[in-house]
Amino acid sequence: MTRIPYWNISYGILIDAFALVAVIVFARGVYGHWQRIKKGKLRLRPVRDLPGQIGPIFVYALVTKGILGSKLYKKFFTGLAHGFLFWGMILLGIGTTLVVLNVLFGLPIFAGGFNRWFMSFGLDLAGLAALAGLIFFFLRRMFPPQRLITPRERAGFVAQIGLLLAVIVTGFIVEGIRIKATGPDPYAFVGNILAGWLPANLAAHRLFWWGHGLLCMAFIAYIPYSPMMHILLVPANTALADPMPGSKMGVMDFSSFDNEESEEIPTLGCASLADFTQKRLLDYDACLWCGRCHEVCPAASTQKPLSPKGVMLTLAERLTNGEFEDTEVIDAIGEDAIFACTTCTACMEACPACINQPKTILKFRQNLVMEQSRIPELMGKAMTSLEQRAHPFFGTGSGPKEWCKDLDVPIFAQGETEYLLWIGCSVTYEERAQKIARAMVHILDAAGVSYGILEESRCTGDPAKQMGNEFMFSELAQTNIEEFNDLGVQKIITLCPHCYNSFTRHYPPLGGDYTVIPHAVFIDRLISQGKIAPRDNGQSIVYHDPCYLGRRNRIFEAPRQVVRRLGRLVEMPRHGAESFCCGGGGGNYWAEEVGERINQNRSREALDTGAERIATACPFCLLMLTDGTKKFTEEQKAFDIAELVAERL
Ligand code: SF4
Ligand code: SF4
Repeated sequence: MTRIPYWNISYGILIDAFALVAVIVFARGVYGHWQRIKKGKLRLRPVRDLPGQIGPIFVYALVTKGILGSKLYKKFFTGLAHGFLFWGMILLGIGTTLVVLNVLFGLPIFAGGFNRWFMSFGLDLAGLAALAGLIFFFLRRMFPPQRLITPRERAGFVAQIGLLLAVIVTGFIVEGIRIKATGPDPYAFVGNILAGWLPANLAAHRLFWWGHGLLCMAFIAYIPYSPMMHILLVPANTALADPMPGSKMGVMDFSSFDNEESEEIPTLGCASLADFTQKRLLDYDACLWCGRCHEVCPAASTQKPLSPKGVMLTLAERLTNGEFEDTEVIDAIGEDAIFACTTCTACMEACPACINQPKTILKFRQNLVMEQSRIPELMGKAMTSLEQRAHPFFGTGSGPKEWCKDLDVPIFAQGETEYLLWIGCSVTYEERAQKIARAMVHILDAAGVSYGILEESRCTGDPAKQMGNEFMFSELAQTNIEEFNDLGVQKIITLCPHCYNSFTRHYPPLGGDYTVIPHAVFIDRLISQGKIAPRDNGQSIVYHDPCYLGRRNRIFEAPRQVVRRLGRLVEMPRHGAESFCCGGGGGNYWAEEVGERINQNRSREALDTGAERIATACPFCLLMLTDGTKKFTEEQKAFDIAELVAERL
């Protein structure tokens, strides 16, 4: 049947005037958000300046994560409900716009198949989908899971859900009365059912029609003043997020500190909202307070004082209140919380809004360490050791050559050696981790690889960077780069994912650009090329993903391939991108933990699989798991994959 637009409504065109008012209020609210974000230090990554290869990534991220909400589906039912609500409302919005175009310009939408299948059937289906989504979110607000509970309620969510529910319900009532009065419309299946129950009361129809229209306008006008603003903020934040996985801290430019002409004294790290970039402020504005980050955070889930969601909402509130210069914010978050972050990036992985929580936390940490000299005692000792001995392992009984004292390990020779085998500080100075280097030497010798080590062992500087001391990182990195460049190093094999991460992400801006290969990848390659052939003894081996290898650098498969060559690969419930940290990252290897120990939590998960051995590919993980498993068993359970391969050659 053919529908008459604005049937039974006099002066219906007036609704367009209300729409104009709603759009003006909406635009004013959006401008307010921009005014606040604009106060950030640097410009957002400007879209027009994006290099060629980043442009498609920008669009891809916008479409997949920002508009399609792909990360939301990690919680399937929430993702589904969100999809129902979002796409339902989009279709209803398109339908309403078409009606306005029909009234203004006579667009022929109320005839033929389009009327039957889109304007009647399609829009009723969209309304039902939106209703289902709204009921889901309403119930979840009434009975919230732990992650949604915050000390302070976020104003506006319930009001917006209520408004939308009223919009959908009044829309269906209007349709039902119209169908009752004008005759059945078999394609508008919801309206037809309602027509069976509703009276053909023209006055009621007019009342609900105007109510429906005004509620729609109220909803639109209210969007920027409520959490519903995430409709715009999340796609923007997603598209502008760094396309590189994990959190890239960047390298600090200290040259401005030497510039005597500069009147402005740069702040080291960030002490208040005013010190952050526009992108970080957009992060805080876009945060949904959904708590997915809190749920996966190893610190939060072991009773540490840190909650990434708590950090975000503290900053979001200050942003909304315009408290840009408030340096109390660090104390509001808490020094203990700031140092409890293991920089594992599980929060980033889980966040549907693509927020970089660890970057904010580390910026505060930099300020505490470099501006205020505030650092927990053990981390402070590690830092002092780094300063005095170029490694953070204070109190170690091992000397730099201890790990290879009875081995014949070649020294890197300029122009002759192909690979630099970078040992790194933990492997050099921690007795348990030294076995990784010994195993790797055995593997490389067996495969006939041309490799060599440096005369003098040093740290990459990664622990200094993660603990917030960018000065020290720069010094150590520059010393290493000078030596590498003098020696003509081009290819580096790393034993530690933290070294790998530093070499690939933080050394290039300082002039150190090398081909870097993590040992797990290198071993996998040697096996695939048939250069080594470790025996498979059928043992069950559970693999623990190191955060800096897996989540941060997306190397999930190579170490698993190696494990499959050795026996039967077993997975923990939390593995791959959703893996749980060992607790040793972000300088927390040198921390007095409160609450449950993270390494024990992870060790229990690994042991619960019943696997005979736990394999990993990071010396810090190995040390933490070796210690963590001691609570449950006296047997040595945790091994580096290099050790497992070497013993089967
Ligand atoms: S990086 Fe890891 S430890 Fe730090 S806040 Fe995120 S989830 Fe928690
Ligand atoms: S930071 Fe991300 S995951 Fe955490 S509460 Fe905000 S939106 Fe949710």
